Amino acid sequence: MTKAVKVGCHVSISGSISNAVDNAVGRGCTAFQLFTRNPRGWAAKKLDEETITDYKTRLEKSNIDSSAVCAHMPYLPNLASPKEDGFAKSVRTLRDEVERCGRLGIPYVVTHLGSHLGTGESAGIDRLVEGLSAGAAIDNNVMILLENTAGQKNSIGSELEQLATLLGRLEPSERFGVCFDTCHAFAAGYDLRTRDKVRAVFEEFDRHIGVGRLKVIHLNDAKGGIGSNLDRHYHIGLGEIGEEGLGETARFAKEHDIMVILETPVDDARDDMGNIRRVRELVREEYMQ
Ligand SMILES: [Zn+2]
Ligand SMILES: [Zn+2]
Repeated sequence: MTKAVKVGCHVSISGSISNAVDNAVGRGCTAFQLFTRNPRGWAAKKLDEETITDYKTRLEKSNIDSSAVCAHMPYLPNLASPKEDGFAKSVRTLRDEVERCGRLGIPYVVTHLGSHLGTGESAGIDRLVEGLSAGAAIDNNVMILLENTAGQKNSIGSELEQLATLLGRLEPSERFGVCFDTCHAFAAGYDLRTRDKVRAVFEEFDRHIGVGRLKVIHLNDAKGGIGSNLDRHYHIGLGEIGEEGLGETARFAKEHDIMVILETPVDDARDDMGNIRRVRELVREEYMQ
């Protein structure tokens, strides 16, 4: 029996964290991503036991495997920041997220790598090693996933080599993995438009990092062109990457049992359910070359 692809989207926790489960089920997700708190501020409401139990109970009753859930770090932290205050707050937030995920039974927390703000790549990576290590010092099994970026000015992590360098310095290695975002990779110059190109990019990923460390794929089409450094997500198949490449990426994810999370817009063109459905169709379809 071939397993189905685990696919879903980023879901809202409005009202309560446990609503995320209902939002995921309602959209036909077999995997989902959430924020464990308001993503726009520094402060987070403490998680009480009742909320945790409610979330876990609803998840257990759903058809979603608890291993197919990931949390995303809030927006403000910058773990590559040269500024003492900003860096300290960012590290505190990461540690708090790792702790919250542990209590909720969420296996992965996805983090962006931030900006060195002009101090240079090597200074930024030193900061990241310090900050990420402090996150992994929280005593649980939550894995921190480093997300590749679109290559905006001063950002870290747009190249697979850079991610590999960083991962090589992080211990213990079982606490660190990768979240690969197709829109970001494409914007950073990785061609994902054809089946062959997709396979070549993942072969490169395997050479530098190892596919075993790839735990989440953010499957997003891109509004900007290849190498544009534009971080603008678009509906599956309707952007610059297109259906052939995204379909092949989803098939690759299925083969390796990697969860697929969509962070696509919701507008007149399509909603979450429509994009998730399209991914499932693409996984089943075979392209003629
Ligand atoms: Zn992403
Ligand atoms: Zn993005």
